Amino acid sequence: MIFGIVLLFGLIVGSFLNVCIARIPLESSIISPPSHCPRCNTPIRWYDNIPLASFAILRGRCRTCGQRISWRYPLVELLNGLLFLWAIIEFGFTGEAILVMALCSTLVVITFIDLDHQIIPDVITYPGMVIGLGVAPFFMSSLAGPLSFGLGTVLPPMGQYGTAFLNAFIGLVLGGAPLYLIGLLWEKLRKVEAMGGGDVKYMSMVGSFLGWKGAFLTIMLGAVSGSIVGITLILLKKHQADKVIPFGPFLAFGTLLTLFRGPEIIAWYLGFIRL
Ligand SMILES: [Zn+2]
Repeated sequence: MIFGIVLLFGLIVGSFLNVCIARIPLESSIISPPSHCPRCNTPIRWYDNIPLASFAILRGRCRTCGQRISWRYPLVELLNGLLFLWAIIEFGFTGEAILVMALCSTLVVITFIDLDHQIIPDVITYPGMVIGLGVAPFFMSSLAGPLSFGLGTVLPPMGQYGTAFLNAFIGLVLGGAPLYLIGLLWEKLRKVEAMGGGDVKYMSMVGSFLGWKGAFLTIMLGAVSGSIVGITLILLKKHQADKVIPFGPFLAFGTLLTLFRGPEIIAWYLGFIRL
């Protein structure tokens, strides 16, 4: 029952995320005007705006003009619903779970905006950093636990919050550093801008939530998954080598794995290289 409510809440938030994905890159308001069909401009009535159900009932078409509705709308809703469910199962009904849910929704929005426009908007990453620095230290176990800097042993005691805040701050600085340095190097060598600044800011945000180890793991997982998909696409000749594949979705995937399985992956990796 309670899981059903969480799933439903996730679906409803997912419906709002679809609006964010469509409107944030256009810099238009995410509140008004209400959603309307992109072809016939008919406002979408509340009973046609029920997550998943309306898409199924309308068979993916606008009620007025029959325009196809993208399958991405129900996909985003379902994805967000399942992520909320996973957060509650993994972290229980805690402040940490709420932050994890917020971060998951942010990842979903960033993934699809980056796929569509090859940008990660500052209006998402800057507030994310503020929350990562200001709120995450109170709740995120990663900032005090196995993904943190381990400052407790080095510094004089400054309270749990002080240590967690410092871990968040180090995560913010170090999280963005690798991609920033790679971008700088690339610019010097090729005299072109390769890495969008959005990726750097995104990684700073992730670092402020997950600590510097979490950020580095995210980059590694993002690079590995991105390479696998990139090489597969090139082998399948589905992709021209000169076209840029956005990195954001892979970083988001890496963040998700780190968020839910970070300490386990690090432990597995350390055991693996010892062999
Ligand atoms: Zn229509």
